[in-house]
Amino acid sequence: MSGQPTPMMQQYLALKREAGDALLFYRMGDFFELFFEDAKVAAGILDIALTSRGEHGGEPVPMCGVPVHSAEGYLARLIKGGCRVAIAEQTETPDEAKARAKREGTPTSKALVARDIVRFVTAGTLTEEALLEPRRANLLVAVAPVRDGVGLASCDISTGRMELEECEANALDAALARLGASEVVAPEDWGDGTEGVIARPRADFRSEDGEARLKSIHGVATLDGLGDFTRPMLAAAAGLIAYLDHVGRGDLPFLLPPVARGSGAHLAMDAATRASLEILEAQGGGRAGSLIACIDRCVTGAGARQLAEDLAAPLAERGQIEARHAAIHHFHIDPLLRADLRALLRQAPDIGRALGRLVAGRGSPRDLGQIRDGLSEARRVRGMLEASADLPALLRDALVALGGHSALIDHLDRALVPSPPTERQQGGFIASGYDHALDALRETSGNARKAIAALEAKYREETDTASLKIKHNKVLGYFIEVPAKHGDKLMAADSGFTHRQTMAGAVRFNSIGLHEEATRIAEAGAHALAAEDAHFEELVGEVVTAREAIAATAAALARIDVAAGLAERAVEGDWARPEMLDTPCLEVVGGRHLVVEQALAKSGERFVANDCSLGEDDRLWLIGGPNMGGKSTFLRQNALILLLAQAGSYVPASSARIGLADRLFSRVGASDNLARGRSTFMVEMVETAAILSQATERSFVILDEVGRGTSTYDGMALAWAVVEAVHEQLRCRCLFATHYHELSRLADTCDALSLHHVRAREWKGDLVLLHELAAGAADRSYGLDVARLAGVPQPVLKRAKAVLAKLEKGRAETGGLAAGLGELPLFAASLQAENEPDDALRDALEVLDIDTLSPREALDKLYELKALGGSTKP
Ligand code: ADP
Repeated sequence: MSGQPTPMMQQYLALKREAGDALLFYRMGDFFELFFEDAKVAAGILDIALTSRGEHGGEPVPMCGVPVHSAEGYLARLIKGGCRVAIAEQTETPDEAKARAKREGTPTSKALVARDIVRFVTAGTLTEEALLEPRRANLLVAVAPVRDGVGLASCDISTGRMELEECEANALDAALARLGASEVVAPEDWGDGTEGVIARPRADFRSEDGEARLKSIHGVATLDGLGDFTRPMLAAAAGLIAYLDHVGRGDLPFLLPPVARGSGAHLAMDAATRASLEILEAQGGGRAGSLIACIDRCVTGAGARQLAEDLAAPLAERGQIEARHAAIHHFHIDPLLRADLRALLRQAPDIGRALGRLVAGRGSPRDLGQIRDGLSEARRVRGMLEASADLPALLRDALVALGGHSALIDHLDRALVPSPPTERQQGGFIASGYDHALDALRETSGNARKAIAALEAKYREETDTASLKIKHNKVLGYFIEVPAKHGDKLMAADSGFTHRQTMAGAVRFNSIGLHEEATRIAEAGAHALAAEDAHFEELVGEVVTAREAIAATAAALARIDVAAGLAERAVEGDWARPEMLDTPCLEVVGGRHLVVEQALAKSGERFVANDCSLGEDDRLWLIGGPNMGGKSTFLRQNALILLLAQAGSYVPASSARIGLADRLFSRVGASDNLARGRSTFMVEMVETAAILSQATERSFVILDEVGRGTSTYDGMALAWAVVEAVHEQLRCRCLFATHYHELSRLADTCDALSLHHVRAREWKGDLVLLHELAAGAADRSYGLDVARLAGVPQPVLKRAKAVLAKLEKGRAETGGLAAGLGELPLFAASLQAENEPDDALRDALEVLDIDTLSPREALDKLYELKALGGSTKP
């Protein structure tokens, strides 16, 4: 039938419009069905059969479906595949639909069950244990660009943590990189066009609404007590809460009071730095080979999540950093305490996430059990720490947060069975002895069961049928069954039995006695279920009331796990407690690169530890030497040591004195990956430009082979200019690796720059890379030797040698590539000389505030500028 869509199809299409770009899971009986494009997308990702059903607009409708009982696994795969899913449930039973049709006077045979979207499942709004990774936070972030800055609201709804911050527009990428959100929402008119950002109505991002929502959620009259929130922060909070409202269809998940994150509280790192240092993820993607994979010894998921957060946002305040070091020290020097504590923590369930589910209304009796067990574990941890002398401040604070739950633990202990089920509907989770009425109901059904067993024996005797049995099934409930040949005895009118069913070989009966007992069981069962349900609600209510204290306990346990885990790791790797200073220095003795060290250890090789010593009068090290000599490794190991220290960890070195840094930059010369379609050289220059505009005297910068992506002359010229700028202008600590020999001449003019190289030696005609850092310039570049090591064929090497000889001869005669560069005025001086002349166009551009312009105004402005440009032309 073509033409008019069926009522069901109309209902589907209306729901699909509501679902927008989310896949619609349309409930039909025991299945969630998907239609049209949704079906194609889902069938592709899930690798399930694509069929079709009926027709729409003259075409068969593509369809696929997943069983409701196993929907969770499919959902997980769709979310991983980058989809969002809207769940449309049946909101009435077929009988209710028929009754409604009758009332409305429509044919009951065609009554369509009402359906509604009850929830959106999206990557950033998951709470289900099965869909979450235990060791990774799952963040939803809202971005609110307003006139004078960008507000960011982030929350992990699996634990309820929420943070608000504000940054300048040009620091947004770095902030987003730090957060590593699963899902980002922003106003639809936000022109950034970043892929994967979910567009929401601009009206959702009003700071007044944000303030009002936060006040009502947390039941406060003013937000002042929670922190200092700016307009952009509140606008972002508004957008975040509005989105949560939307995906939860009005049901808000658990949200803790927001924490304002001050700018400058953290070591700033942009996305490129994070990627190149492989902090949480290796370059190929995935945790293996990353820094965190190498240092994570946490025994709980919550600890691992906290560690990831610490590494993603190292601190910039000395007191806080030293507090973390002191906590590690406490566990470092006491191996017994550490081992006992970690053994305890290992058993502690993830109470943060259990709490998230309970508050979101998706909790189970098992979650209550986890809260009980987790809180009593926390009490034990507290006891253990209390007994330990000289507790540092961080652990003393944690101690306070661990306690205070005795009444709740006691209540849950009495109320729940030892391991409560994940299903709430079947009951069986309330312990006996907790509720006498419930016990009585259970006893009633227990007695009735016994009575039924007694009836069986009695009926056997009365009817003289040893094969008589009392059975139970879903359709008939309890019934009496005898083999067909004995059926007649019970059929007699005065037998006391009533016939129910005749099967192939058996006849089934009822009796008044059995009916009575069965009814007692059913009634008592229903009452017992209702009683358990009421207890469940009450217990959940109690947990919800204590949610903030429970969340604080969860956070304290995670913090302790991180400190104990890092202490364990430090002992394992023989790490040192770094000394933190306010002067810009970086003195590392015997530093190591963990990931490289680990990789080498696998093949039985030894990592060569190296020292680094940057200070105010020697802040830029230029490092030369052959490829594969260990330059990048050295650069990164020092960046990682600084990062680890500021994240509050010990460091892989025999000793370290580290001046606090405000920003960390890591740039690695153009490699072979063509990021986002830009040429690799372009990427490199964009990233270098970012450093030159953002680094301060307190920053630490590592630059690896800048200029490698272009021709020798361009590349060397750029590298030269960058080194000068870093030295003269930024005046920050910097390690600069290069294979341009010629740059060593910079040592003549830059007084805080020194030359270093990775050592190599020729041995019996072979090149031996020593991976050892030494002072002074590299004697030569060893490029051809490395090529030989790499297996470049002999004839090619021979030819290259001839070419090189020719080039070197030329160099000897002319003074080489960099001849005369030493006479150039230094960077700062040359800047003065070449300042652009004033012009009207430049001034007009300078004062232009693009964020405030409508597209129309922008166009007008463009005409104006064009006119200006014309008028300034000579
Ligand atoms: P470069 O940047 O000079 O080309 P890399 O830092 O990439 O060199 O190092 C190349 C390889 O040398 C590494 O993959 C590692 O196997 C080895 N290596 C680097 N540093 C060390 C070290 N300190 N000790 C031992 N081996 C090292």
